[in-house]
Amino acid sequence: MDFFGKNVFNDTVMREKLPKNTYKALHKTLDEGLPLQLEVAEVVANAMKDWAIENGATHYTHWFQPMTGYTAEKHDSFISPTADGRVIMEFSGKELIKGEPDASSFPNGGIRSTFEARGYTAWDCTSPAFLREDAGKVILCIPTAFCSYTGEALDKKTPLLRSMETLSKQALRILRLFGNSTAKRVTPTVGAEQEFFLIEKKYHQKRLDLMLTGRTLFGVLPPKGQEMEDHYFGSINERVTAFMQEVNIELWKLGVPAKTQHKEAAPGQYEIAPIFATTNIATDHNQLIMDTLHKVANRHALACLLHEKPFAGVNGSGKHNNWSLSTDEGANLLEPGTTPHENAQFLTFICAVIKAVDDNAELLRASAANPGNDHRLGANEAPPAIISIFLGDELSDIIEQLKIGKPNTSKQGGQMTIGVSTLPSLPKDSTDRNRTSPFAFTGNKFEFRMVPSSLSIAGPNVIINTIVAEVLSQMADRLEQADDFHSELQAILREVAINHSRVIFDGNGYSEEWVKEAERRGLPNLTSTVEAISALISNKTIDLFKKHGVFSHTELHSRYEIYLELYSKTINIEALTMIDVAKRQVLPAVVRYSTELANSINTIRTADPKADVSAQKDLLNEIAPLLKDLGLIIKDLQDATTAAKQLHGDAYRQGILYRDLVFKTMNELRQIVDHLEVLVDYEMWPLPSYTKMLFRL
Ligand code: ADP
Ligand code: MG
Repeated sequence: MDFFGKNVFNDTVMREKLPKNTYKALHKTLDEGLPLQLEVAEVVANAMKDWAIENGATHYTHWFQPMTGYTAEKHDSFISPTADGRVIMEFSGKELIKGEPDASSFPNGGIRSTFEARGYTAWDCTSPAFLREDAGKVILCIPTAFCSYTGEALDKKTPLLRSMETLSKQALRILRLFGNSTAKRVTPTVGAEQEFFLIEKKYHQKRLDLMLTGRTLFGVLPPKGQEMEDHYFGSINERVTAFMQEVNIELWKLGVPAKTQHKEAAPGQYEIAPIFATTNIATDHNQLIMDTLHKVANRHALACLLHEKPFAGVNGSGKHNNWSLSTDEGANLLEPGTTPHENAQFLTFICAVIKAVDDNAELLRASAANPGNDHRLGANEAPPAIISIFLGDELSDIIEQLKIGKPNTSKQGGQMTIGVSTLPSLPKDSTDRNRTSPFAFTGNKFEFRMVPSSLSIAGPNVIINTIVAEVLSQMADRLEQADDFHSELQAILREVAINHSRVIFDGNGYSEEWVKEAERRGLPNLTSTVEAISALISNKTIDLFKKHGVFSHTELHSRYEIYLELYSKTINIEALTMIDVAKRQVLPAVVRYSTELANSINTIRTADPKADVSAQKDLLNEIAPLLKDLGLIIKDLQDATTAAKQLHGDAYRQGILYRDLVFKTMNELRQIVDHLEVLVDYEMWPLPSYTKMLFRL
C-alpha cells in the first residue's frame, strides 16, 4: 500500500499537484474525449516536471509503441542553460503533448515517403505518465501515440484508441435502447496473462540461437519432458521467488497491479497476470511487464524467454487476453444479470460477440499471427488455428433454445421470452473448464487464448473491439428503427443463434475430429502466418475499418507489408543463425569427436591387434553419413536462403518461399543436428543442452 503507484502521475497526484480548474479541464478530456487545450497542457507539464524532479528524474521521454511491437523511447533531459552558465529544469506544454522523432528507422510498410521522414508522437493522456528507474537514472515516461506527417498511425496505440472510441459509441447506442440514459462511456477491459520461460543466463549466452532468435534452433529433449505434469502450479524455488518478488515490486511501483504468478506446464515455464484494466492501459501494463521481466531476470543472472516456442517438445508460451466491456458506471456488460431486462441486455452483448467472431474469424486469426505462433497453433498444446467459441453448457443451451424461437429458461422447462423471462443462473466455474478453446466465455468475460506470448496485445484488441463494434452497430441500426423493440431483439438474437452456432464448440479443440468437424462446418483453418495475414487486406476488412475510422486503406496495407516482412526477416535470421551454428560450432565438434574415435580405434589396434573396437567403429559408422548429410544440408539451406532473399519484390511470394522452402530445409537440418547430439560426447557438444536449460533452475 505504501508504494503501489509511487512512480505514477496518477489521479491522486494530479488532484494534489494541479490547480482545481486545470484538473477539471484535464478530466473533461479524459472522461469525455474532448481535445486538450495548450494552456491546460502547459500547467500539467509544469506540475508533472516538478513531481518528476522531486522524485529524482533528470530526463523525460515520449514512450511509444511502434510497429516493432516493442516500446520506443528517446531521452531528453530537462536542463536548459541560463546566461550565467548554470541550468534550470524546463518542460513545456508543447513538449508534453507533442514530440517529433525521426520516423524513418521504424517499420512503416511504405507509408512514409522518404522526403518526409518526420513522425509525431502525441500524449495519450488517458494512460498516466510514470517514472522508470533504470540503474539510478530516473526517466519521466509519457505514454504517446505515434503517427506520420500525414496523420497515418505508425504505431500500435493509435488504432487501439480509435477502436475503443468506436466500440464505446456503438455499445452506448445499445445501452440507450435498453433505457440507460446515463452511461457516458463503455470501455473494453483487458487482463493479459503472460507466459514465459526462465533459464540461467550463462547458458543463454552460450547459445547464439537464443540470443539472436529467441528460440532454440537445435536441441534434444531429455528423457523427461513435461509428461509427469509435475511443473504446473508446483512450488517455486527460492531463486525464482526472489526474481518474482523483485518483478512485483518494480511493477507495483509503476502502478501495474501484478496479481497472480505460478509455474506453467513446461519445465522452466511460468506465468504472471495483473488485474485487468482499460484496454490501452492494459496494453501499456503488458509492455511494462515484458520489459520488467527481462530487466529483472538479467539482474538475477537469469534470462527470460518470451518467445512462443523456445523449446521443441514441451509447451510453448502464449498470452491469454481476457476481454470484457465495462460502463463508466461500473457495470460489466458480459456479467449475466438477475432481472429479465438485464438478461436480455447480457444476451445481446454475448450474441454480438458470437456473430462478430464468426463473421471475422479470419481477421481474428490474423491478429494472433506471428512467426513464433506458427509453432504453437495447431500443435497439441495451444488452441488450434481454427477459431471457435466455448460457451459452457448453460449458455450453449440458451443459444440452442434461442433458435427455436421460444426458449426455455432451463432444461427443466418454463417459457422464456427475451426481456420478459429470467435466465437460469450461470454457475461461473462451470464455464471455465475447457482449456482447448481459442475463445472461451469464462463467466463474465471472454478469454482469447491464441495471442502469442511476445506480441503486443494492442493488435488483437483492435480487432476484437472493432468487430464487436460493427455487430453492435448492425444491431442498433435495426433496433432503432423497430416498432416493437422486444420482438425485433428476439428476432435478431434468434438469427445469430441460427446463423452463427457453427462457431460454438465446447468439445476438445486439440482433437483430430475437431479439425474435420470444423471443415464440415465451413470454419477457416489457417495454419500459417503468411496465409493468415492476408485477411488484413481483404475488401471486407478494408470496408470494416474504414467505416469505424480505425484503419485507413493505407494503414492496413502498411501493416500487411510490415507483418509479411517481419515473417520473412525472422525466418531469414533463423536460417542464417542455423547455418552459422551448424558450420562453426556443430560441424567442428563432430569432426573432433570422429577423429577421437578414429584415433582410439587406431591406438587400441596398435596396442592389441585383436582388440574388439566394434563399439567405436559402430559409432563412427553411424556418425559418418550424418556428418556428410550435415555438410550437404547446410549448403541446401544456404541456397534456399539466397533464393528466398532474391525474391524481395513480392512480399507475399517471398513469405511463401521462406515458409515452404527455407523453413522446411531448416527442419531437415535440425533433424540431423539433433540426431548427432545424442551420438557425440556430451562434453564436446558446443551448445548447452535442454537438460541444463530446463532442469537446472
Ligand atoms: P485463469 O488462469 O483461470 O484464466 P487468471 O486469474 O490467471 O485466470 O487470469 C484472469 C485474468 O482475467 C486476470 O488478469 C483478471 O484480472 C482478468 N479479468 C477478470 N475480470 C475481467 C474483466 N471483466 N475484463 C477483463 N479482464 C478480466
Ligand atoms: Mg492463469
